Amino acid sequence: MKNAGIPISAVTAYDYQMSSYISQTDIDFMLVGDSLGMVVMGHKTTIPVRLSEIVHHTKAVSKAEPSAAIVSDMPFLTYGIDTKQTIKNAAKLIRAGANAVKVEGGQKIINHIRVMIDNGIPVMGHLGMQPQSVLKERGFKLAGRRESEAKKILEDALMLEELGVCAIVLECIPESLGSQVSNSLKIPTIGIGAGRMTDGQILVVNDLLGMTEFEKSKPKFVKHFAQVGNDIRIALESYSNAVKSKNYPSKQQVYLPDKHFTQNKTITTVSKATELYQTDVYTRKNIKIGFVPTMGALHQGHLSLIERAKAECDVVVASIFVNPKQFGPNEDFASYPREVNSDIDKLERAGCDIVFIPEKNYIYPNDDYTELRIEGPLTESLCGKSRPGHFNGVATIVAKLFNIVKPQRAYFGLKDYQQYLIIKKLVSDLFMDIKIIGCPTFREPDGLAMSSRNLNLSNTGRKNATVINQTLQLGAAKIKDGETETIRIEQLMEESLRSVSDLSIDYACAVDSETLIRHSKLKSSVLLAIAAKIDGIRLIDNLIVEH
Ligand code: AMP
Repeated sequence: MKNAGIPISAVTAYDYQMSSYISQTDIDFMLVGDSLGMVVMGHKTTIPVRLSEIVHHTKAVSKAEPSAAIVSDMPFLTYGIDTKQTIKNAAKLIRAGANAVKVEGGQKIINHIRVMIDNGIPVMGHLGMQPQSVLKERGFKLAGRRESEAKKILEDALMLEELGVCAIVLECIPESLGSQVSNSLKIPTIGIGAGRMTDGQILVVNDLLGMTEFEKSKPKFVKHFAQVGNDIRIALESYSNAVKSKNYPSKQQVYLPDKHFTQNKTITTVSKATELYQTDVYTRKNIKIGFVPTMGALHQGHLSLIERAKAECDVVVASIFVNPKQFGPNEDFASYPREVNSDIDKLERAGCDIVFIPEKNYIYPNDDYTELRIEGPLTESLCGKSRPGHFNGVATIVAKLFNIVKPQRAYFGLKDYQQYLIIKKLVSDLFMDIKIIGCPTFREPDGLAMSSRNLNLSNTGRKNATVINQTLQLGAAKIKDGETETIRIEQLMEESLRSVSDLSIDYACAVDSETLIRHSKLKSSVLLAIAAKIDGIRLIDNLIVEH
């Protein structure tokens, strides 16, 4: 790199995590420096650092299997006394994962460096300010300012090169000396406070990250490339405040029993999207959410949708919301049955995981609001004709609920067949990635389609209501008998309905089951549909007849 003029970047590293971060960069080598005595252990100098401590941190740094080379410092008095001991100590660092060792000093440790290199241990030199000499020097001082001192550093550098060291760290020397030494050597120089001309630079990683709190002033050569210390202080303070104000842990950070997979589950009730997203379901990935929107006053028909969703999805979310926007001015919004508490129990028993019960003001916060409008034949007949604006209200609430619940699948009853077709159209037109599933109509034993509104029927009305399904069966039988004229079927159905007093017919139609268009001749798949009021309660039912 020196020959190619590419500067060498190096940092200290003391642990596995930092080593992993460094490995994600193109930093060329890491130094498990005896600076850890100060940075990690809180000593005032590097003097107290033991070989076992550098071994310990070298192991941690090498655990990240970094692509950058690892150089480990030989601490104070672990070299320079007895060459045998030097070799043994250096070997411990190499065995711990170091690729090379670094020693401070020149002439005086020449034998020790030689014996290591002769025995195959790569050595990095360290000249200029030598932190391990801090006692002798009475403090950390700039080195090489005097000419004699500078001359000695240069001589030592040349001697180290001659011995075969792989590189030399130059610490806290004038820039001119850093330049002179670097130009005089073939091996690279790595500067720390040695100016701009050295072949590489090294910094203590905590210094460059802005984590170190310097006792006096920050050394001139240190530059903060981040303010991690500040971030840590802020994070710790926020954490402590959150604990003391009981905002941590919140719902998001607690383990809930895995409701879907345990028998004794309890349903979660939420009233806002934010609460919904705090449930464990919404923090898990790749969960298939099945959604059943309802207006409450639940019966077995609704619960059959929950059961189907449960069989096909990981999690079932139901909603209960009596949507004012789908009721006309003279319709039964006020008297629509509301039984939220028993609904929650029923949903829980059916295996529903979450029920979303929003307030009206949450769904429609103010008078200005966005409404979806459904146009075309699908809305022009049947309930679309007799309840103007109804399906716009339905489409609007369903789109809102879909956006909140974010299901993969949504379940609708075929009892509201026109609604089912319109919702299918809605998701297709708006490119919503939701599969709409139509579920068969659930009936009372006498054939009456289950409906929340049945609760509002008088006893007589309830008995009379069976005529609706009987009429559909009659129409179906006639078609199967070969009748092809729409008008005949419709007349037959009207006649049948009129057999009951106190019943007013809204419609009794035979239309194409796909388009809901009425043709004078029956198509091969016919939807027989009835809407009638009994006791002033509007009931609907339908039957598809293939012939
Ligand atoms: P509602 O609460 O009336 O808005 O109905 C909620 C969902 O339940 C809608 O998809 C309805 O079509 C469906 N549903 C209502 N009654 C029945 C029933 N008897 N059988 C099957 N699904 C039904």
